[in-house]
Amino acid sequence: MLPPLDTPCALCRHQRAEADEWDDDAGVALRVCTRCANDGELGRRLPRASYLVVHSEAASATTETLGLYWTVSSDGAAPKTPSIVAIANLREPDSLPLGVQPGLFWRRRLLCHVPTNFDGDPLWFEHIAKHSQGDALLGVLKADADSVGAVLDESLHGSTSIRALSSISRQLDDFFAGRLKHELESNTAWQSIYTVFGGGDDLLLVGPWNVMFDFAGKINELFYLGFKRWRLTLSAGLALAKWKRPIKFAAAQAEDLLQQAKTATAPDESTAKDQLAALGQVWKWKHHAAIVGAGKRLVGWVDDESMPRGWLHTLLELAESRFGDPATGRVADPLATARLAHHVVRNYPSGTEIRRWGDTLVDDFDTCQRVETRYLPAIVRYALTATRNPSKEE
Ligand SMILES: [Zn+2]
Repeated sequence: MLPPLDTPCALCRHQRAEADEWDDDAGVALRVCTRCANDGELGRRLPRASYLVVHSEAASATTETLGLYWTVSSDGAAPKTPSIVAIANLREPDSLPLGVQPGLFWRRRLLCHVPTNFDGDPLWFEHIAKHSQGDALLGVLKADADSVGAVLDESLHGSTSIRALSSISRQLDDFFAGRLKHELESNTAWQSIYTVFGGGDDLLLVGPWNVMFDFAGKINELFYLGFKRWRLTLSAGLALAKWKRPIKFAAAQAEDLLQQAKTATAPDESTAKDQLAALGQVWKWKHHAAIVGAGKRLVGWVDDESMPRGWLHTLLELAESRFGDPATGRVADPLATARLAHHVVRNYPSGTEIRRWGDTLVDDFDTCQRVETRYLPAIVRYALTATRNPSKEE
């Protein structure tokens, strides 16, 4: 017989609630379990953390993992308790903190970037979502390197040295835990991105949805530069989620999309992988900039009022009817091109940039030779999300 749970934790619902956690959004205190309360406290201290400290004995405010106890320290000097078995330097991972015995120093890079407000406190997911363009949604990005084992097998063929293998895995870890951290810290465009984890050969990040589209492209660009000689590629899934939903659901959705990127073939392509899955479609990275750029161009036209937002709904409906949808059993409409031509001729003023764009789309709608036509559903969904009024529920 297990003891009754009484009130379960309001966050994880797995353990008995034993502490109060203030919920800014609801303006009430939530009853949470000790583990969730400790996680919340750890999260609040992360932006100012200097050292990750592992103890052999329980000390105050530490978390237990596999019989060891760890905490973060935000002091300027490294702590010197006798129970310490290892110290990692979070700010300068490669330098031995002053006064720490070399035997205790744990050289470990951690991808850790926490967006903060002016007081140095972490931004909640709600505030991160509200940094988005249009709809206040979080973008949850999960990415990892494609078939590392197989590629290395091929690249190292004939090599009997384990040194080459360990060198590549160290370079992968340096990339996910080191290079990306540097990119996040050095470019103000990425200040609102939160790192859940990154290292080894994969990562999970959360940020304003439109920023995550740009950052996904940046990650792949840097990955390509770092690993093209090994012919390693990256796949990723980007899920858009409301900030009020528990983040674990969005993380599971991002994982599903990542698997889609690794197994589904994009329109007019013959292989899977080296792709991003988002907004209901899958595309090769080589088309990413064109697709996001086309979405932004539509946003610009809606913003400067040269295109009524309602046309985006019409375009999405036409794109969906042009391609059909095997998942819902919707068959492709043979009249879609004629209906698009009617929509363009009737509405888009002749001689304008929008009309030229519309005419090109009509010409290509049957054969889909152009990237902007093949990925029109994702492009229009991007523009609809970026121009949605966040105060209105649609
Ligand atoms: Zn809990």
